[in-house]
Order: sequence, then structure tokens, then C-alpha cells
Amino acid sequence: MSDFPEHVRCLIIGSGPAGYTAAIYAARADLKPLMIQGLQPGGQLTITTEVENYPGYPKGIQGPEMMEDFKKQAERFGTDVRFGYVTAVEFNGPPHKVIVDETHTILADTVIISTGATAKWLGLESEQRLNGFGVSACAVCDGFFFRQQDVAIVGGGDTACEEASYLAKLCKKVYMIVRRDELRASKAMQHRVQNTPNIEMIYNSETKEILGGKTVDGVRIANVNNKEERTLAITGFFVAIGHQPNTEIFKGLMDMDEAGYIKTIPCSTRTNIEGVYAAGDVQDHVYRQAVTAAGTGCMAAMDAERYLAHKGH
Ligand code: NAP
Repeated sequence: MSDFPEHVRCLIIGSGPAGYTAAIYAARADLKPLMIQGLQPGGQLTITTEVENYPGYPKGIQGPEMMEDFKKQAERFGTDVRFGYVTAVEFNGPPHKVIVDETHTILADTVIISTGATAKWLGLESEQRLNGFGVSACAVCDGFFFRQQDVAIVGGGDTACEEASYLAKLCKKVYMIVRRDELRASKAMQHRVQNTPNIEMIYNSETKEILGGKTVDGVRIANVNNKEERTLAITGFFVAIGHQPNTEIFKGLMDMDEAGYIKTIPCSTRTNIEGVYAAGDVQDHVYRQAVTAAGTGCMAAMDAERYLAHKGH
């Protein structure tokens, strides 16, 4: 390995729809982007099955296959896609210093952060085993597969309420499993779920096990007070207990909200650090869709390209 750190014009951290779209645009703008893929190349879509809501795929596509297409398209225009994990950053530039796998130093004139967010899970073995086979962390992505069926959703925040309302329009019945005797969500959202006839609230309850061989056929829950157990016959189990943005390595180095999402300047992907941009779920806890992530990835590459042009690079 050379003694001199590698110097790039555009470094993209993370390889979900935001990262790859940024790569396609940056490569076509001749920025010769380098992408460091991260621990889960392809991002959250690689752990879903069918994606039916991404425009341009009229018959739907498997998540992992779609991310392979994104990668091929980014590489076609010259993106250098590398497996690796960013272990440290120093935003004292530009150029900014990024350390990959604790050993390799990269200097970057612009950095696009697209490290995404990770859905929080209950941590049950059955949840992991049936993930993608009836267990999902995204009602908007997967609710459609459970039309006219009975499903359950766990969580009591705004996301759980919003997703329960969404599911109630598609499904026959939605059980909402809440661990306390009240919801955390805003009053408006509480009223909405409590007044939807096909949503049944089950308070003070925790999920013990998701049932099913190859696909989900039920869930075993227990009342937290009297420990009484019951089984609900369902085919879909949705987890909506929050997301964690993947921003650990950037903590203390840039502006974030209290939940750790990177703050961007409205109508742009600019962060408070010159030459550093954020795209996708790492800066968006509201929409969290592949297509919205891709949209902000495009914006980030355009913001980076304009910044470099302005600086005369
Ligand atoms: P959240 O507000 O953190 O709520 C998480 C919910 O999951 C809580 O009810 C929590 O229960 C429950 N939970 C956590 N761990 C659990 C476990 N192991 N087992 C069972 N239940 C568990 O997360 P969120 O709903 O994703 O919302 C995140 C942020 O985005 C919030 O600020 C929210 O207001 C905002 N948001 C806004 C909108 C909107 O305005 N339209 C839509 C979505 C999200 P406890 O209450 O007992 O802790």
C-alpha cells in the first residue's frame, strides 16, 4: 500500500438506493466517485423479498436483485465500488479524512453520507427466521402482500399508528400489540387507530414468539400483568418499534437531531460541514422509501458537483 493517502473528489459511504443513485450521478458528472459499501452491501433492501413500489419495475423485483442492478448501473459509468467499512472520519477539510477498515486513509474533497438506518427488532429467533416470509419492518413496502388477511403490528409510536392505519385499509383485521397501557404516539394518531373499526388494540402485551414453519401463521403474546398467553391467527407480522440511524461514527462531528439523524439544510443535502452531504434514511425518518432515498442521492451528487465546480475543481 502506498505511503500517500488516496485522494478522491467524491467519496460515497454506504450502498443503498441513496448511495448508488449518488454514484450514478457523480460518475456521469465525471467526479470518479469511490464508494465504500459498508457492512451490508446493498442496504436494507437486501433483506426484503419482493419490491413492488419502485417505479420502472412493473412486475416487481426481488430486493437483492434490484440492488445488483443499482450497482451495475453505478459501475457502468466508472464508480469504484469497494467492500469495506468506514471506521473513523475527520471532518477538518476539505479534503476530509476517512479511514476504511482502520487501516486505509482516503482524502475526499466531497463526502456523501448514505449509511441508512436500521430497523429495530424485537430480538426473537422466530422473528429473524421468518423475516421476509411474513415478518416485515415496513408496512408500506409489504402490506400489499397481506390484502384481505389478518395481520399484527407491534409498537405504540407514530410509525406504528401510521402503519396500522395503512394496513387497516388493505387487510381484514389488524391487531396492534402495545407493551404499555397507552400509546406513545401523538393524540391525533391515537384517535385514528382507536377509531378504526378493523384495528384491535391489545395493550400491556408482549410478543413471545412468531409462529409458522415456512411462513407466518400466528403469534403468541402474553399479558405483562397476569402473564396470560394467547395466540392470534395472522399471516403477517409487522415490527414498528423505531429505527436507528447509522451515524455512530459521525457523532459529535456534525449536526444531528436528538435521535441521531443527520441534519441537512432544507431543500438540499448539505450538512453543516463544508463538502459533506447526507442522503437517504440517514437524514430522513419520515418517508424512508427506496425511491425517496434515491431522490436525495441524486440531489447529493448534484450538490457535490456544483460545490466542486464552484471551487474550481
Ligand atoms: P418511537 O416514537 O420511538 O416509538 C417506538 C414505539 O415502539 C414505542 O411505543 C415503544 O414503546 C415501542 N417499543 C420500543 N421497543 C419495543 C419493544 N422491544 N417491544 C415492544 N414495543 C417496543 O418510534 P417511531 O414511532 O418510529 O417514531 C420515531 C420518531 O418519528 C418520533 O419522533 C415520531 O413522532 C416521528 N414520526 C412522526 C410521524 C408523523 O408525524 N407523521 C410519523 C412517524 C414517525 P414505549 O412507548 O413503551 O417506549
